[in-house]
Amino acid sequence: MSFKDLGLTDALLKAVQEKGYTTPSPIQEKAIPHILAGKDVLASAQTGTGKTAGFTLPVLQYLSETKHPKYRPLRALVLTPTRELAAQVYDNVREYSSYLNIHSAVVFGGVKAASQIATLKRGVDILVATPGRLLDLHNQKAVSFKRIDVLILDEADRMLDMGFVRDINKIISFMPAKRQNLLFSATFSKEIKQLAQTILRNPVMVEAEPENSTAEMVSQKAYRVNKKDKTSIVTNLIKDGNWNQVLIFMRTKHGANKLTKQLLQSGISAAAIHGNKSQGARTKALSNFKTNDIRVLVATDIAARGLDIPLLPHVVNFELPNIPEDYVHRIGRTGRAGASGEAISLVCSEETEYQREIEKLLGKKLATEIIEGYEPTDNAPPKRAATQSKGSFKSSSSKKPHRKNHTPRDARSSNSEGRSKRNSRNRRR
Ligand code: AMP
Repeated sequence: MSFKDLGLTDALLKAVQEKGYTTPSPIQEKAIPHILAGKDVLASAQTGTGKTAGFTLPVLQYLSETKHPKYRPLRALVLTPTRELAAQVYDNVREYSSYLNIHSAVVFGGVKAASQIATLKRGVDILVATPGRLLDLHNQKAVSFKRIDVLILDEADRMLDMGFVRDINKIISFMPAKRQNLLFSATFSKEIKQLAQTILRNPVMVEAEPENSTAEMVSQKAYRVNKKDKTSIVTNLIKDGNWNQVLIFMRTKHGANKLTKQLLQSGISAAAIHGNKSQGARTKALSNFKTNDIRVLVATDIAARGLDIPLLPHVVNFELPNIPEDYVHRIGRTGRAGASGEAISLVCSEETEYQREIEKLLGKKLATEIIEGYEPTDNAPPKRAATQSKGSFKSSSSKKPHRKNHTPRDARSSNSEGRSKRNSRNRRR
């Protein structure tokens, strides 16, 4: 199957070719024909599946082939949970519309509204936005939704997690009832199904296998540790393993700042990315990380959601997420596009319950090890996953451990290794 077979016009095919894509990804193959046919679509797809082009290409085709008044009313709206995702989707929209007469724009909070208002005034066919800022702009009458033909909710599950449901419903209440609706979500909770029921009409369901299927591409490992040792362990892992690009997940903004400071003090270049950082700081941190100018990006779940960081070799869960699905999203940052990756979780006694929840979701146990010299002394969980046996520290990219006593004893259980069946609950709660 080629992009041409999907029914895309020459102008879009040229843009796609310039991006270097040769064949459509599964979600593109499944979603594009339905979207071109004007159907509502409910798509199960995570970042990394090519979902953005999956909705952007057909919507751009629709917009370019449909007549519109000269003043260019807003006809398509993409709602995203975070500023970063909005910026990324907008970049895609711009690239794919290079050869079309389409006006696009992006609006999100954290930056001044004046230039966004000026852009909207000039007429925009397709707008990418985060819900809060968009409602502000609507309240100021800087944007109207009366002529919306297509509504796209990207990463709808995360928008619900972030409490945007009221904003979304409010925005929709200003739109015409007759329109096309596309809802993309990585997971399908009860809430998402409810939202889908209220928004979508006779939707076609499409599902994508992420390229970075957690079970197959990513080597996952947990270290049972003391909470107080985590910083020292992660510093050693990065230094000893010569890791040059590692994404570390924290549960809190404060924790992200603190760890970043400690890494910098150890001579490891790092930056934090979270909701309290200015837009400028977040963009700069991400771009420095992508260009390898900094080795470590320390992120909270919300800030990291939807970031397109290709071929990331290492992800560390400094703290396990309390929502098991977030674990799947986190480790989805590694081993992308067919490359293998390593995801390491540092688990202290108070997080063992989170680990169990994650294992339930994955349908398999995480290989759990203890690092020599860092044996956990806090209350061990009642259930030990494994018996311990001697083994040597091996990190996929490390040479030799720097510290002699930095050698984990392999405490891997017999059922913790090997390929697991992909668990459909990854995507369906
Ligand atoms: P997304 O899931 O939309 O965030 O896309 C993930 C990555 O895949 C982005 O870097 C896209 O540029 C890239 N991508 C999208 N579609 C294709 C394709 N058909 N072939 C190769 N790469 C693609």
